Amino acid sequence: VKSIAVLTSGGDSQGMNAAVRAVVRSALFHGLEVYAVQRGYQGLIKDDIRPMDLRSVGDIIQRGGTILQTARCKEFLTPEGQQLGAENLRKRGIDGLVVIGGDGSYQGANKLSKLGIRTMGLPGTIDNDIPFTDYTIGFDTAVSIVVDAINKLRDTMTSHERSSVVEVMGRHCGDIALFAGLASGAEAILVPEVPYDLDDVAARMSDNFQHGKRHSIIVVAEGVGSGEDISRQITERNGIEPRVTVLGHIQRGGSPTHNDRILASRLGDFAVRQLMAGDSGKALGIVNGELVATDIDKVVNTKKPFNREMYDLALRLSQ
Ligand code: ATP
Repeated sequence: VKSIAVLTSGGDSQGMNAAVRAVVRSALFHGLEVYAVQRGYQGLIKDDIRPMDLRSVGDIIQRGGTILQTARCKEFLTPEGQQLGAENLRKRGIDGLVVIGGDGSYQGANKLSKLGIRTMGLPGTIDNDIPFTDYTIGFDTAVSIVVDAINKLRDTMTSHERSSVVEVMGRHCGDIALFAGLASGAEAILVPEVPYDLDDVAARMSDNFQHGKRHSIIVVAEGVGSGEDISRQITERNGIEPRVTVLGHIQRGGSPTHNDRILASRLGDFAVRQLMAGDSGKALGIVNGELVATDIDKVVNTKKPFNREMYDLALRLSQ
């Protein structure tokens, strides 16, 4: 490849900017031309594409969100939309594309790969729901935000001897709830991957209160149900009325942690090197600290395995 482009797509996540910066700077370092596509696949179809230089990505490594903005684009689901997108790249001589996003964005990248544009997908989502990578870009920051929020809740819960239900993001993947729950000593963690027993949760809560516990935190991934519902069902069982906190989009904002910045930087540079080596249709990730490239077809057709060992540990430590 001589000329590549980068875009961000789907839900944003902290560290997307660090990834864009790494792609742009690494490409320029290797003597490639590099372009940015604004607003994901929508910008690709609308031809919203501009050249980037070293300074275009200055002062963004520490910023949340994405300077390239992101969008969901229905038109790109059609073969005509995909053709148009590929043509808009080709007419500028762009033959490689780095897509930073989630599962859906990967499928779009795969379609472009089949149309002859070399593509690389980077996992940009807070949910950590992408297989063949231990972590996605933004996950570490999102977990830190949840842990910080729970620390604050704990202070006031302990003063008042109350309990809290904290609803966090994660429709199909409970990793934010799992990691934040373990890190903040939650009494129960409800995730979509493991069937839960509210009778047991409610009984443990009353038992713990009777044995001197002065607060309790229940972390609920949104895919399980709303925090309000869970809280009501707990009250029906044990009479305890947990306060509900829904963290919502706060989990997607703010400055990325050093882990996310480093992950984004490594993956962005890896994407450029893979494109230069002639590879295409790959999703990039990190497994046991090593950079790995996996066929997008395989990634989008595999469910992320759940870390049951960590889940059981959290339960054991929460008595
Ligand atoms: P998140 O996990 O944060 O939701 P995502 O990348 O999965 O991110 P989607 O909205 O699913 O977010 O996908 C982003 C965009 O990718 C879509 O708006 C669409 O333009 C494109 N896309 C999704 N699925 C496909 C597909 N099967 N073929 C082509 N393009 C697709």
